[in-house]
Amino acid sequence: MSGEEVPMVGHPEGHAGSAWCELTSAAAGEAGPGALRPRDQGPDPLTRLIGAPPDSRERLGRLDLTVSGLGSIGAAFVDLLPAFALGTVRLVDPDAYAPSNLRSQPITPDAIGRPKCEVVGRRLKARSPETRVFIRHDRFESLGLADLQSSHAIALAGDNLALTVAASQRACQLDQFIMEGATHGATSVAQVRRTAPAKGRERSCPCCTWDQSEERELAKQTRFACDGSGRPLANPAGPTGALAALSAQAASMMAFELLRWGLGLDDSDVTVEYCALSRVSVVSPLVRNPACRVEHLPWHRVRSARPLGELSPSQLFALAHARSPGRRAVRSLEIEGSCWAERGSCDCRVPPPLARFVGRSAEAVSVGTCGMCAGPLRAHSFHTHADAPGALFASCLDRSLAELGAPGARAAIVRGSRSTFLVVGSEPSARTPVSRRAGRGKERR
Ligand SMILES: [Zn+2]
Ligand SMILES: [Zn+2]
Repeated sequence: MSGEEVPMVGHPEGHAGSAWCELTSAAAGEAGPGALRPRDQGPDPLTRLIGAPPDSRERLGRLDLTVSGLGSIGAAFVDLLPAFALGTVRLVDPDAYAPSNLRSQPITPDAIGRPKCEVVGRRLKARSPETRVFIRHDRFESLGLADLQSSHAIALAGDNLALTVAASQRACQLDQFIMEGATHGATSVAQVRRTAPAKGRERSCPCCTWDQSEERELAKQTRFACDGSGRPLANPAGPTGALAALSAQAASMMAFELLRWGLGLDDSDVTVEYCALSRVSVVSPLVRNPACRVEHLPWHRVRSARPLGELSPSQLFALAHARSPGRRAVRSLEIEGSCWAERGSCDCRVPPPLARFVGRSAEAVSVGTCGMCAGPLRAHSFHTHADAPGALFASCLDRSLAELGAPGARAAIVRGSRSTFLVVGSEPSARTPVSRRAGRGKERR
């Protein structure tokens, strides 16, 4: 990155669909012109690291990292990031600080009641002004594919297994590095599980090691979440009750694993454990489990030069198969956040054709009026699909997604006979400056 002054204004992602809110330097109470950068503070520790490539700073400056879970481990991990001066950090957490957090977290009483992502994000932005910091006060699962597809890596430090499943699935689909930090208070063990995309081998994921007890906990949790609380409960086993020193140990291990991967030193899939009481550390391979609940194969990613709403199904299918013209059979099409309603439900004896995209709750709400019976028309649950068979689009192949009921589509998933393609549309305003994203995927290792 250049040594020029970073503008004090934000660069909001700016399109209506984005889930992220960018923190500006001014809002974070940044020290203003002349604030110290890591490279201004004497010899750069990165250049002294044995084995680190000469372009270490540039590699880290290009990285886009999503951090999910800002409890005692996640927040301590983010507090180590200013030294890395990453290009972009995205923080997502649904919680706010409670009085009980005062002893275990580096906060003062004025943080109580405020969202964790905002408090931790402002602290990061104030100490690392060159980093673009985005926050989202919500569950990780609320993020869309278009919100996550710019990230190269996910760092996870959550308190529930459903989050681990969701983040692992996204990381595999989007071909991202993922690591999960955890502690076990009673045995003083800090653990990091990490897996990286790699050419020539199938990767694993943090769920590959799960046994039946974890599957049982997940099932319990899912049932509780459906009771109307609107979000999964914390791990039924309860908080691990770890000392802040152990959380800091896990956070530090996560920082080093990010460094090892980010600098291209290591793309292995491993579990790293340290027992603070016995001073024993163990590194073991995180072996891919063929029966894992997560699909490990990455999706092919295609970016459209136009917003998706302007494209027709046939244009989407052509984009998705541009690199493999021999395989044109489209198994199915999914527009994230929408369903395809082939037929409607009303007072008519035969369900009338609808053939359009509707919101995910359209079986409950009216999507129009029936031309035959003049009654309210809902999507017919039997004829409505999130992932719609390709053949259903035969009669409307050349109409735009906007005409078909999905004007604001941001991500389309086209499944072929062997591969899955994610098509993301262009978004109206500029996102991260091109220079930081150039060469993505080639230069990061
Ligand atoms: Zn797995
Ligand atoms: Zn009718």
